Amino acid sequence: MQFKYAVCFIAIIAALLIFMNIYPVASFRDAAFEAKHASTLNQAAVVASSLSSLPELREEDVGKIMSMLNNIMVTRLVVTNERAQIIYDTSQYENNVGRYAVFAEVMTALEGKDVFRSKYTGEGLVSRAAMPVTSEGVIVGAVYIYDFDIDQAGMLETMRGNLLKVSFVILFLSLLLVFVFSWLLTKRIRSLFKAMQNLGGGRYDYRVEVRGGDEISGLASEFNSLAERLEKTESMRQRFVSDASHELKTPLAAIKLLTDSILQNEGMDGETMREFMQDIGSEADRLTRTTEKLMHITRLETPETAGGVTDMKFVVEKAIRMLETLAADKGVRLDVRLSERCFVKADADDLHQIVFNLVENAIKYNVEKGRVTVLLFKRDRTVRFIVNDTGIGIPDEDMPYIFDRFYRVDKSRESEIGGSGLGLSIVRDVVDRYGGSITASHREHGGTSFEVVFPLASRSEAER
Ligand code: ADP
Repeated sequence: MQFKYAVCFIAIIAALLIFMNIYPVASFRDAAFEAKHASTLNQAAVVASSLSSLPELREEDVGKIMSMLNNIMVTRLVVTNERAQIIYDTSQYENNVGRYAVFAEVMTALEGKDVFRSKYTGEGLVSRAAMPVTSEGVIVGAVYIYDFDIDQAGMLETMRGNLLKVSFVILFLSLLLVFVFSWLLTKRIRSLFKAMQNLGGGRYDYRVEVRGGDEISGLASEFNSLAERLEKTESMRQRFVSDASHELKTPLAAIKLLTDSILQNEGMDGETMREFMQDIGSEADRLTRTTEKLMHITRLETPETAGGVTDMKFVVEKAIRMLETLAADKGVRLDVRLSERCFVKADADDLHQIVFNLVENAIKYNVEKGRVTVLLFKRDRTVRFIVNDTGIGIPDEDMPYIFDRFYRVDKSRESEIGGSGLGLSIVRDVVDRYGGSITASHREHGGTSFEVVFPLASRSEAER
C-alpha cells in the first residue's frame, strides 16, 4: 500500500516537473522567434525600400546605398538582382558577387513574397528572411538576411539548465516527503491491522493507540470500543459457563449420591427408599428449573425482536393465579390491587418472568402469616409494578449483589427453599431490555419492597 501511494504521488510530481521544464522554455523560444521575425523582416524592409529608388540593381549603386545603412546588425546580408545573381554580400569569407544565390528564400522573394524561417539548433537561433525589392511596381531583386543569434540561445540554455536543477531539487525533496508521509500513513494502518489480527487470535485485551482526529483515529477508537465490548462479552460468557456448570453440578452430585446409597444398601426399607426417591425427584426438578432459567437468559442475550404492547394487568393476574397455592401452603396472604390499561411495550412472556419471580420470592422469603402486597398503577406516563412483603428482608451488605447471577443471600437457607440465584438476574435483564428500571429497598417494619418502572406505551402503540 505504501508503495502504491508513493508511485501515485511520484507520478503526479513527475508530470508536473516535466510540464515545468517544457512549457517555459518553449514559450520563451516562441517569444524569441517572434522578436526575430519582426526585427529581421524589419531590417530587410529597410534595405528593400532603400534600394527601391534604383531602377536597376547594379553593384556600385547598391554598394553606395548599403554603406549608408550602417545600423543593419545581422550575420549576413545578401542583395541579388531579379535573376538571383548576387550583387552585394556581407560575408567576408567568400567572394560571392556574380554567383547565383540558390536559396529557397530568395526564389520565393523573387516571386514577390516575404519569407521568414527560423529554427533553434541548440547552439544558436538561426533565422532566414527574404524580401523582394520593387522599383515602380517591378521586382528588380531580393534582399536576403541570415542571422545566427547566440545570445538568445545562451539565455534559453541557461534557463533550461536552471529549471532542470530546480526540478531535481524538487524531485528529491518530494521523494523524501512522499516516503515519509506514506510511511506514516501506512504505519497507522499497519498497527490497526496488527490489532485486528490480535483480536482475531483471541487477544481481547489488545488496544490500539488513538492519536489525532482524522478518519484513521476514528477507525482506531471504533476498533477499541469494539474490542472492549468483545472483551466484556467474552468474560461474561466465561463466567456464565463456569457458574452454570457449577450450578448444574450440585444437584447432579446429590442425585448420584442418593442413587449410590440406594444401590449399596441392599436391605433398605421401602419407606427410606421412597424418601430417597423423592429427594432425587426434587433434585431433578431443581435441575429442570435451573436449565429453564439458563435458557431464558441466553434467549435474552440475543438481539431484541420487534415486540408488541401488553396490558400488564393480565400478566399479573395470571401469575398471581399460578402462585396462589404456594402462598396458601406458606400461610402467606396475598393482597393484589391492579389498575386498568397498564400498557407496556414488551413481550407478555418476558413480563411474566418479572412478575412471577418477584411475587414468588416475596412468598418464598416470607414468614408464617406474612403478607405480600402487589400493586400495579400508572403515574407520570409510567407503569409501576410494586411487590411489598413482610418477609425476612435482605441484609444491607447483600443488597448490591442480589441482581447478580447465582447470587444468594444465605446458601444453607436457600438450599432448603430450592432457589437457583437466577431469578432476580433474569428480572433485571428483562427490565433493562425494555427500557425500564428496578429497585429493591427495605421496608420500615421489616421485609422488602421491589419496584419496577416502565415507560407507559402510548395509546396509538397500544391499539396497533
Ligand atoms: P433464588 O432463585 O435463589 O430466589 P433470586 O435471584 O430470585 O434467586 O434471588 C436472589 C437472592 O435474593 C435470594 O436467594 C434471596 O436470598 C434474596 N431475595 C430475593 N427476593 C427476596 C425477598 N423478597 N425477600 C428476601 N430475600 C430475597
